[in-house]
Amino acid sequence: MALSGIQIYQLLPKTNCKECGFPTCLAFAMKLAAKQVSLDLCPDVSEEARAKLAEAAAPPVRPITIKSNGHEVKGGNEVVLFRHKKRFFSPPGLFIRVYDTQSADEIKAKVKPVDEYVVDYVGMDLSMGGIAVQANGGDFGAAVEAVREATKLPLILIGSAGELKTGLEKLADDDTPLLCHATSENWQEMAELAKEYDVPLSVAADNVDEMVDLVKKLGDAGLKDFVLAPTQRSMLGTLTVNTTIRRMAIQETFRPLGFPIINFPGDVGDPIREVSLAMQAIGKYGSFIVLDNFEKATAYALLVLRANIYTNPQEPIQVTPGIYELNDPGPEDPFLVTTNFSITYFSVANEIESMGIPAWLLVTDSEGMSVLTAWAAGKFDAEIIAKDAKRFGAPDKVTRKRIILPGHTAVLSGELEEELPDWEVKVGPKEAVDLSAYIKNVL
Ligand code: SF4
Repeated sequence: MALSGIQIYQLLPKTNCKECGFPTCLAFAMKLAAKQVSLDLCPDVSEEARAKLAEAAAPPVRPITIKSNGHEVKGGNEVVLFRHKKRFFSPPGLFIRVYDTQSADEIKAKVKPVDEYVVDYVGMDLSMGGIAVQANGGDFGAAVEAVREATKLPLILIGSAGELKTGLEKLADDDTPLLCHATSENWQEMAELAKEYDVPLSVAADNVDEMVDLVKKLGDAGLKDFVLAPTQRSMLGTLTVNTTIRRMAIQETFRPLGFPIINFPGDVGDPIREVSLAMQAIGKYGSFIVLDNFEKATAYALLVLRANIYTNPQEPIQVTPGIYELNDPGPEDPFLVTTNFSITYFSVANEIESMGIPAWLLVTDSEGMSVLTAWAAGKFDAEIIAKDAKRFGAPDKVTRKRIILPGHTAVLSGELEEELPDWEVKVGPKEAVDLSAYIKNVL
């Protein structure tokens, strides 16, 4: 838990020597508590105090990164239980699992579409996190090799210590996979392996007490980077244990449970339940989510759900203000106007583009607000539209000057005619879905 200024002050030398640039130790402590300065500014702080302050400053959920070849999936680093209290920081990675009993060709055929899958969602590129390779009595090293021939995405390796070692030997030096799992039976050998390769280790246990016990033992063995792997697979069981772990980490700053969580919806063996469990894990504290089935439709749904939960609620998703060309417009084509809230922009742009209608789209700077919100807040009025039209060079793009207002802001048409006297101002439909019919039939 974060320390108060007074608690930090108790750990400082209290000599008021001013070498940190502050008149007193208390003033420095207050700045430290507000995270506005670094402890390094005080040359006299003891090692013991430094360690205590570092411990207090550590995030309640330790960040763990799985990475390879420039790709990475981060888990942890969360500071709240509920997104509306601040925001979530580390979007969970979706991993598709292959088995070492599959042939190299089967593995590559499954991995390739995962590797290539990138989908645009309101201006963000969404993609899968990586591949999980599970030992199942086959040739684990060969399976890892086949995966690596098909993708450079991060890996989760699941098997015994011996099997995992054969897989690790196939990986490049910059690969940092997650090893699964240390249990009460094998934790010593798994600890040795994780230490040898300097990679994070998942800790599997049937209940929270057993998990805490294992994390402590592994910590005493010198490991720091864990991912918690509850063995529950039902909706209720997963929800209960994930929530318990995260509550203990954030509300109680209980360090043995202060790690990201890995969930295995793929274990249920039913594609529909798998998706339901994955959705739950995205919403409730899963950081690494292992699936057996990859379908573009379900991947898109899961990634969009994740995007909606993990974007910062205090910062609207925006596109850059300017003039966008839809379907290669010419000087006779109309100008549509909208705001730079991403969802508004894409609603309009997608509708026009999908119908193949050429048009210009003027996107004004409304600080990421939708049309009605921006209008109500004074960020989308005739003066702003006219100013942005001129600033972005709209008059130079067309010979037939027609500008189409969103239907909900029909009230602006008179003022806009005054601001843009050379232009024909028209009022479009209220909904983007009606735009193509409006352009075809009314213009
Ligand atoms: S340098 Fe350290 S001891 Fe000196 S005033 Fe600052 S906090 Fe206090």
